[in-house]
Amino acid sequence: MNGIPESLSARLKSAFGELFASIEAGFCAIRPVTFRVNSHKTTAERVAQGMEECGIRIRLCDWYGDAFIAENVREDALRATPFYERGEIYLQSLSSMLPPVVLRPQAGENILDMTAAPGGKTTQLFSLSGGKALITACERDAVRYERLKFNLARQGATRVNAMKTDALVLDDALKFDKILLDAPCTGTGTISPASPVRYSDGYLAKCTALQKKLIGKALKLLKKGGLLLYSTCSVLPDENDRIAEHAVRLGAKPVAVELPVQTVRLPSSAETVCICPDALYEGFYLAMFTK
Ligand code: SAM
Repeated sequence: MNGIPESLSARLKSAFGELFASIEAGFCAIRPVTFRVNSHKTTAERVAQGMEECGIRIRLCDWYGDAFIAENVREDALRATPFYERGEIYLQSLSSMLPPVVLRPQAGENILDMTAAPGGKTTQLFSLSGGKALITACERDAVRYERLKFNLARQGATRVNAMKTDALVLDDALKFDKILLDAPCTGTGTISPASPVRYSDGYLAKCTALQKKLIGKALKLLKKGGLLLYSTCSVLPDENDRIAEHAVRLGAKPVAVELPVQTVRLPSSAETVCICPDALYEGFYLAMFTK
């Protein structure tokens, strides 16, 4: 694919050898738009019926009853629907719906979404817990924090405690049953003809330094016996397996990630999953830990 920096191709070839061709094919794919129904406000059935009335053809995702794949429209058409306006749907890639599903938020659990904006996974955690988990969502960037608050309000996730703060300065005395660290990353898994590549080795180095700090902090904030889910929308081992190994060096115990779907995978360490980008899924990485 044109526009992939040589430094990124070289890194991917060195990590994955001949599988680079599959990754590159995934970069070239134009994925359909996918969205999640906000079960806090409506039902999948109502949305399905309404979309049909708007002339939008959708099909249900086979592993998630609240997720749909739009067959004949792009984002703008979905954003123009009343469901979007009312916060009854959230445009989200299928891969990025996986971390909350794997984390299985339950009523009454104290959950931290460490790096939360724009809030796709925060609102999903809220919905999956039936609106009954105690969720704290941190975001350090002021503009992105406003977006997070807007999305929480629109989706009716009013019980989420949103904090405009650097998660690295949270008080270590706080302890959470579950933590989602959907880390800032280079985003190499999301490369597509519609999404320009913003990669450099320097940017990667900045991301990995921050990821190490954030995962170290997450382990401090995790209750003994709790669950930490680390995810990125990157396929680079530097910000995936290498960060998971760093967590293990800090005392984290890996827990197997079990996905509800068989996606095409790239090699990654035992217990973790690295999804290869393809015509339906963005490249994505998930690792889970306890302590
Ligand atoms: N989980 C989000 C979602 O599904 O909508 C996407 C999160 S995005 C991958 C990572 C976010 O982390 C960015 O909004 C970034 O500004 C934020 N971030 C980076 N460093 C942070 C820190 N130290 N504390 C809190 N937020 C941080």
